[in-house]
Amino acid sequence: MNKNKKNIRVLILDDDKFMLEFVSHLFRELGVSEVLVAEDGRAGLYVLSAQIDPIDLLLCDVEMPGMDGIEFLRNIADQKYTGKIVLFSGVDADLLKSIERLAIVRGLEVIGILSKPVTIESLAALLKKLSSPTNKTIYPATQLKCIFDAEEIKRALVADQIKIFFQPKISAASRRVTSVECLARWQHEKYGYVSPDNFISIVEQNGLINDFTRTVLKKSVQQLDVWLQQGLDLKISVNVSMVNLDRFNLPEIYQEAVQNSNVPIDRVILEITEGKLGKDFAQSLDILTRIRLKGFGLSIDDFGTGYASMETLKYMPFTELKIDRIFAHNATEDPATRVILESSIKLGKAFGLNVVVEGIETAADCELVARLGCDEIQGYFIAKPMPAVEFAEWLNDYEKKNDRFASGDAQDNKRNNDVSSIEKILR
Ligand code: C2E
Ligand code: MG
Ligand code: MG
Repeated sequence: MNKNKKNIRVLILDDDKFMLEFVSHLFRELGVSEVLVAEDGRAGLYVLSAQIDPIDLLLCDVEMPGMDGIEFLRNIADQKYTGKIVLFSGVDADLLKSIERLAIVRGLEVIGILSKPVTIESLAALLKKLSSPTNKTIYPATQLKCIFDAEEIKRALVADQIKIFFQPKISAASRRVTSVECLARWQHEKYGYVSPDNFISIVEQNGLINDFTRTVLKKSVQQLDVWLQQGLDLKISVNVSMVNLDRFNLPEIYQEAVQNSNVPIDRVILEITEGKLGKDFAQSLDILTRIRLKGFGLSIDDFGTGYASMETLKYMPFTELKIDRIFAHNATEDPATRVILESSIKLGKAFGLNVVVEGIETAADCELVARLGCDEIQGYFIAKPMPAVEFAEWLNDYEKKNDRFASGDAQDNKRNNDVSSIEKILR
């Protein structure tokens, strides 16, 4: 076994003493530098409160006498625990999934579920996950939440610290890059690029969202202008918050941001998160319809996680449905997720919408969503969000490989919807 010491601190919660000893032993075998144990939630809270250095990984049993796993997780979420969590139990899989969801909704970072009996291989896989964060430069929401204030964000807007990263979307059928989603990043002096989940709510709550969106829209349109002049055939998507939907002149504000460029307005799609829709149905409908009249595309973002009713779909003038990544992720393995994914794609198609699935991370997920009939695909499997300069290089590379693949593939005529070939392109 690997005896190299890993500078990792683990806390295991389980009421079964044998299990505590056994799992601790396996972790030590794997080189973990410190393993702490607790026999129920209350003891776990005590151990956590006594630490000076942070715990990196918390293995939490669900069923424990005294304070159970759900109560424990609620408590550590209140205390803003920022380490990673693995749920660890013999209870049935559906129940574990509900508990995982509950933890995630409370802002905790659950990186997996470990079923009993535990093996050294499954623990080794967890440690590997722990040491390879998906995106090192971007701070996850759970680590920085609530540390910024409105004044700081105001200064950031004035000091031009809000930058745009671009993430490509490809056509499921042709595999060509069709458009890019423009995602805000705060280039912070201390934290590097900070992801919007850490500060958008503060922007929204402090009346800054209109300035913020206008800044992002303007910058994104300027970039598209450059790309169009270079002959790239692209569209852009920009996220719009509906928090300030009380402004009836929103369509004019957005139109003005585009009109100061050479970009045709129908190359700009505005993405609206469905959770924010419908507070005032008439007002939302008025504003969104006028946005469409101006020529913008309109997308329902994160579909499936909010409150979009059938009425929303029927009357709101959307052109695109973007299915949230929680339904793309693991759809190949989880039948319930797959049912939701498949019916959402069908629903979107039935309404004549362009259906996008976001959050595609693996070849298998990519293949599945293309087979299920979605139009466009977005996710780390294609590319992560990146600055404009990097995007230009990435696109050049991707298209060369795509062209090479297309000409080599002409004879065997197997290309229709064969997204597994994306994997070959990306290699
Ligand atoms: P969103 O609009 O749903 O954007 C997609 C988010 O998923 C992005 O996170 C993107 O980096 C991430 N993502 C893309 N592919 C994958 C994947 O394969 N796996 C995983 N795990 N994640 C993936 P990001 O950039 O941190 O943005 C988070 C959210 O913040 C966005 O979700 C959007 O709602 C909001 N946001 C971003 N920029 C703006 C903005 O300019 N204005 C407003 N109002 N909201 C914004
Ligand atoms: Mg979006
Ligand atoms: Mg989304």
